[in-house]
Amino acid sequence: MQIDAYVVETKNAPFVQETLELDAPGPGEILVRVVGTGVCHTDMNTQSGDMPLPLPGVLGHEGSGVVEKIGPDVTSVQIGDHVVMGWPFCGECRNCVRGEHRYCERIGEALVGGHRLKGPKAGESGYTRQDGSKLSGHFFGQSSFATYSLALASAVVVVDKDIPLELVGPLACGITTGAGAIFNTAKPQAGESVVIFGAGAVGLAAIMAAKNTPATRIIAIDLHDSRLELAKELGATDTINSGAVDPVEEILRINGGPADYVLDCTGVISVIEKAMEAVGMLGTMILIGGAPVDASFSLDHFRTLWGQRVVGTLGGSGTSAQLIPALLELYKQGRFPFDRLIKTYGFNQIDTAIEEAGTGATIKPVLLLNTDAN
Ligand SMILES: [Zn+2]
Ligand SMILES: [Zn+2]
Repeated sequence: MQIDAYVVETKNAPFVQETLELDAPGPGEILVRVVGTGVCHTDMNTQSGDMPLPLPGVLGHEGSGVVEKIGPDVTSVQIGDHVVMGWPFCGECRNCVRGEHRYCERIGEALVGGHRLKGPKAGESGYTRQDGSKLSGHFFGQSSFATYSLALASAVVVVDKDIPLELVGPLACGITTGAGAIFNTAKPQAGESVVIFGAGAVGLAAIMAAKNTPATRIIAIDLHDSRLELAKELGATDTINSGAVDPVEEILRINGGPADYVLDCTGVISVIEKAMEAVGMLGTMILIGGAPVDASFSLDHFRTLWGQRVVGTLGGSGTSAQLIPALLELYKQGRFPFDRLIKTYGFNQIDTAIEEAGTGATIKPVLLLNTDAN
């Protein structure tokens, strides 16, 4: 079938709309009419060549929509279901078998291989140009900067129809990444402290999640006062503008000492090295933000002997099937208002959305498509 999609031709090329031919869903696959798709840093990192997706290709990986067709053997979803398209995984490797889908041993291929991960057409792209040439799709199992996505049934999560479908796409990536870092990796205990460097979509999701734990101190750090104000409304007990004061000195002052958990949502190496100074004995540094390819950092060896842990987390760890329904239930109860991070744009406004996310004016842009959600 014909779809409209944004294609990135080569490294650093713009997003250009193009009509493509998309294969019908095969075994294990479903066709999703995209209703909303978040725009994430990873899309821009892929556009700039920092991710190994072969170009040209169709990006977009925070999509939600309605199931229009299902492959021959699909039973886990029905036509008409509302779904969030989560991260794909092989389901067979050691880590998948133990329920750690984010650490699927084929996760690189699953997210940015540009072709089908599984099924009789594994290794082939389902996306074809008008001239008959193939291009990369299946980005994070969806390539959702398009009117339709070919997703794996095993990767989508069905959501209730009373939830605004156009807003839930970011639960596939950015929002679960922040929330999962708290729920699956930090797991703060009563009276513990959590410090979050970077109050963008991921950091603010972590703050909202931390408010749902017994942590008693939640400190947000950013350079934008507007984001710090929102952080406070969403659950931060204290905020620090690191452009105005030394963040570590402020953390020690506010917290009465170093912190139990420090989350880096910036991916900026100098921030990570500075943030380590705020981690206490038996404390944990959690790395979340994506740094440039091949980046490395150094730590004070003696301090890490103080029982410290440094741990990375991908996509919030856990599984889409675990995190997304939990976050939606918290949302319904008013305990996880992730919709406050979102600003919506028309599908044609992708450049504006990216620009406003870049300046900090928008925290999480979502492009709307096919706006009749039912
Ligand atoms: Zn796997
Ligand atoms: Zn993302």
